[in-house]
Amino acid sequence: MNFVAKALNLSVSAAERLEERNILRKAIIKHPFFPDVIEAFRLDKKFGFYEDGTVVVKATDGVRVFRGFPKIRRALVLNPTLKKHFGDREIALEEKMNGYNVRVVKIGENLYSITRRGLICPYTTEKARESIESDFFEDYPDYMLCCEAVGLASPYVPNEVYGIEGLDFFLFDIRNSRTNESLSVREKEEIAESYGFRIARVYLTTHPDDFNGIKEVIDELNSNRREGVVFKDIEMKVDPLKYTTSSANTSDLHYAFRYFGEYARDFMLARIVREAFQSFEFHESCEEFNERCLRLGKAILEPMISSIRECSEGKTIYDESVLIFSSHEVLELFKQHLRLLGVDFKVEILDENGEIRVKFKRVMRSTNDRIRGILNGSTWR
Ligand code: ATP
Ligand code: MG
Repeated sequence: MNFVAKALNLSVSAAERLEERNILRKAIIKHPFFPDVIEAFRLDKKFGFYEDGTVVVKATDGVRVFRGFPKIRRALVLNPTLKKHFGDREIALEEKMNGYNVRVVKIGENLYSITRRGLICPYTTEKARESIESDFFEDYPDYMLCCEAVGLASPYVPNEVYGIEGLDFFLFDIRNSRTNESLSVREKEEIAESYGFRIARVYLTTHPDDFNGIKEVIDELNSNRREGVVFKDIEMKVDPLKYTTSSANTSDLHYAFRYFGEYARDFMLARIVREAFQSFEFHESCEEFNERCLRLGKAILEPMISSIRECSEGKTIYDESVLIFSSHEVLELFKQHLRLLGVDFKVEILDENGEIRVKFKRVMRSTNDRIRGILNGSTWR
């Protein structure tokens, strides 16, 4: 614990209190797949100016701090929010990719993938080691690659819209691991080019008052079923803002209502509110408005009804994806990792052909129980 206190400039007793209150937790499972890490802790809540998900690692080559990825605030209307937030600065409209947040870092001799809450994920680590060259870290030892892990073989957010069977990393920020300062959009693009990283696409650089130009990008993303944009000051001196398409709002709702027992009401309400503000700001025609209503209504009712139907036929409702492992060692370690996270899951090996393809099913216990109960005559609260 001493090394955590020292690294975060806390007294030993303050660090002990953090641990007692369960804010400081273990970030890794000890295993030969993680040979460079002796011990690692993560912050499960924001503490002082340290973001939640901040990780402190005692490694074979010293103590390292990896700051948590900061929250990005959301714009519900473009005007006047962008102007108010960015003033006259030049902004980049970067595609907001829909996967999960990963900080790829180098510890000792190997790469490691840290997920949003500060856990070192074995599966994502294996994938990063397979697809990211580590020469960047020789030249930038104090930096981390903030990426969205995207594709069908995702245990957390499987998504087909990118046409990626496996799991790819799209770089969106390069940050100093200790200070969380970000390189500018241009510097990031140059680095990506020279080290061969895939990057979240910049659709446009413009000024906050270019409503038509910005709306055009959003419309294009929406028709391609993409998630949305992150608006970034090209210098990265002002915090970014995010904005999502109607397609993303409705596909989130579709997902949440399929598993309505697991999802909080806030999650659903927030997405309905986004639709209302967008509809208002975009001055829709009667036809566009009717289409939105139908889309929204379907996103709510269709998935719930299909869950009810499946339960009534005696089936269990799972969230399924197909994961691809390179070794049994990592598969076993990943199962341990999920148990640590408290995930209720099942895995079935589909085939082994050099790589191991696994069906990963997350059991949606509370949705299943609720529907069964209601179909058996239970009353609602
Ligand atoms: P937050 O805590 O930032 O609000 P959240 O968990 O609610 O995050 P999202 O609504 O998906 O997540 O929005 C923020 C996330 O978007 C980032 O954490 C990052 O993983 C993801 N992202 C995808 N593309 C980009 C991009 N181009 N720039 C920044 N973040 C991006
Ligand atoms: Mg996301």
